[in-house]
Amino acid sequence: MHSQLVVLGGGPGGYAAAFLAADLGMQVTLVEADPRLGGTCLLRGCIPSKALLHVARVLTETEELAAWGIRFAERRVDLASVRAREEKIIQTLAGGLKILAQKRKVTVIHARGSFVASQALRLEPANATPLADRTLTFDHCILATGSVPARIPGMDLATDRLMDSTAALTLPDIPESLLVVGGGYIGLELGTVYAALGSRVTVVEMLSGLLPGVDRDLVKPLQARLERRFGEIALETRVTALVDRGDAVEATLRGPAGERTGRFSRVLVAVGRRPVSQGLGLEHTQVSVDERGFVRVDRHMRTTDPHILAIGDVAGEPMLAHKAAHEGRVAVEYLHQGTAEFDPLAIPAVVFTDPEIAWAGLTEEQAQREGLAIEVARFPWAASGKAQALGRTEGMTKLVIDAETERVLGVGIVGVGAGDLISEAVLAIEMGCTARDLSQTIHPHPTLSETIAFAGEAYFGTATDLYKPRR
Ligand code: FAD
Ligand code: NAD
Repeated sequence: MHSQLVVLGGGPGGYAAAFLAADLGMQVTLVEADPRLGGTCLLRGCIPSKALLHVARVLTETEELAAWGIRFAERRVDLASVRAREEKIIQTLAGGLKILAQKRKVTVIHARGSFVASQALRLEPANATPLADRTLTFDHCILATGSVPARIPGMDLATDRLMDSTAALTLPDIPESLLVVGGGYIGLELGTVYAALGSRVTVVEMLSGLLPGVDRDLVKPLQARLERRFGEIALETRVTALVDRGDAVEATLRGPAGERTGRFSRVLVAVGRRPVSQGLGLEHTQVSVDERGFVRVDRHMRTTDPHILAIGDVAGEPMLAHKAAHEGRVAVEYLHQGTAEFDPLAIPAVVFTDPEIAWAGLTEEQAQREGLAIEVARFPWAASGKAQALGRTEGMTKLVIDAETERVLGVGIVGVGAGDLISEAVLAIEMGCTARDLSQTIHPHPTLSETIAFAGEAYFGTATDLYKPRR
């Protein structure tokens, strides 16, 4: 078999690339080991986690209506129905991808591919599907094999009480107690789900703060709320041993106050993800990989092998679905007309906790580290009518502004719905908007989106709802 373009991996990077290539008239084969398209994001990542976070949010909001004097009868959770609904969402979207591939005449092969040469893959059918020809040659290949959960060395237990994110998303039960190792995206998102369902959640994070890399003033309101909803958040703490005790896992935790042990019904390990670059036969190509296993790529998404490009999680951080999809489109456009580059000013990131944290462009921490001349304008949501109406005044919107040009270089938001608010900021950064542009753009009232304009006004010391004269 020969194909003009082969895409290896059918996640959000791979299928976006394959579909665009077909739209541009290329003859495309998409090779995916899973029986369904969608990758980590659809099958065991973004979509199922956001479905469960939706359930968690509604559960929590109904509890919080007590502050309005509204109470519901005791809730009953039918986990089998929750799982069935989660699976239905995945099935609907995966089915949609299958049809989209067919309509575009993308040949989809469900098989595990590994390189035998720079222009040839060997295919191992993933199931009993017969394959007439197990060698697939190509003009170009886009490598989009994604990532898998990282493990803590020496902490593998032969018990399903020890879970990674994939296992946790299957909701095996509502454990009485859940130890979450890692206070990053997954630990906090899935911790939020299990806490809302009724588990006592303990998070241990080895660094001195949750969500490393995120500005501390954005993390603070989230942490304050999580401290109320979780059993415990232990910072500067590591798990040094895990022992299967049959009815529980015993964990030894080492933190600033010394060592202690605790028994947990289940343990979720969420200490990062590693790129899938091993076992792909890359040694038969000229592709090179860095010390962390990421495939080295240039701005056109080209690897060091002229026939192979790489995109998404396997090609470097941030490991986010929208970054993978964008890179996929860049790789295809580069193959099509030879100039496209991956050159964004802002890649938005959203932690879908409650409240959400979202940011784009330069962070304050990063600007300080790089010694850049910036000013920061903040608008606290306590001064927002909409936030007051929702009873969610802990939020904050901040702008990181170039001190000389007043151009907006970065935006950070913590608060309910921050993930949906950040897109305006991404557009503003990409379009080179100044703080004045944002402050003079009429936003609808009363909305949380207004806080972006109000942060612009706060920069000039003229925010209507905030008395904070410019220094
Ligand atoms: P993947 O989605 O990992 O897809 C790679 C595909 O390649 C897989 O389907 C795999 O089966 C296939 N493959 C691997 N090796 C082979 C082979 N040899 N042959 C054939 N096929 C192969 N990101 C967000 O932006 N927003 C979120 O809200 C979000 N939530 C997440 C929640 C969780 C719990 C997790 C785990 C991740 C989340 N992510 C989120 C990250 C997101 O899922 C990834 O960044 C994204 O899926 C990366 O896309 P990709 O196409 O590079 O790789
Ligand atoms: P992460 O990198 O976000 O967080 C891992 C955390 O674990 C870090 O805070 C790290 O300091 C800590 N850690 C590492 N080793 C530890 C140890 N031995 N003991 C205690 N703490 C330890 O990784 P993740 O949460 O596993 O998520 C993986 C990636 O998946 C994310 O980085 C992100 O790219 C992607 N993701 C994105 C979203 C989203 O966009 N909303 C959601 C989930 C996952």
